[in-house]
Amino acid sequence: MTDLNFEISIPSDKDGFCLLQCPLCSGFFKLKPQDAEAEDVIQIWCPNCGIKSDNYLTEDVIELALNMGENMIDDALFDSFNKVKKSNRNKNVSVKVKKSSHKHENPIVAGIELLDIQKYKCCQREAKIKPIVKLIGSYCPFCGVNDDGNH
Ligand SMILES: [Zn+2]
Ligand SMILES: [Zn+2]
Repeated sequence: MTDLNFEISIPSDKDGFCLLQCPLCSGFFKLKPQDAEAEDVIQIWCPNCGIKSDNYLTEDVIELALNMGENMIDDALFDSFNKVKKSNRNKNVSVKVKKSSHKHENPIVAGIELLDIQKYKCCQREAKIKPIVKLIGSYCPFCGVNDDGNH
C-alpha cells in the first residue's frame, strides 16, 4: 500500500503570492503568506474596498484545495496500480488502469493572472491587486491606509 503524504495548501504564484478574496466586495487580491501571517500584521484590510474581514479564504480556494487533494490521491492510486501492472507483466493477471480525469484545479486563473504588484511604502510590503484598483488607489492590506497610487 502506498503511503499518501501530502499537504493541501493554497497554491502560490511564481512570485510567492497567494490568492485571497474579499467576502464583502468579492474582489480578488494576493498577499505573500509570510506577510499575511507576520506577527505585526493583526488584521488584513481588503485593498479593493478598504474594509477589514476576518477570513479571506474563498469557497473557490477551499474547493480548489479539496480538488487538489483528490487529484493527488488519484495520482497515487494510479502509480501504485501501475507498479502492480508492471510486476505482473509475465503472469496471467490483467490489471486495468484507467486514469480518472483530473478535476479542474484552478477555475479562477484568468482573474488572478491580471493582478499587478503594488508596493505599500507605509508597511514596506507588497500585494497584488487589479490594475484598475492600483490606478484609482488601493488600501494597504496591512494597515488600511489609502494609497492614491502616486507613491
Ligand atoms: Zn473588499
Ligand atoms: Zn500600510
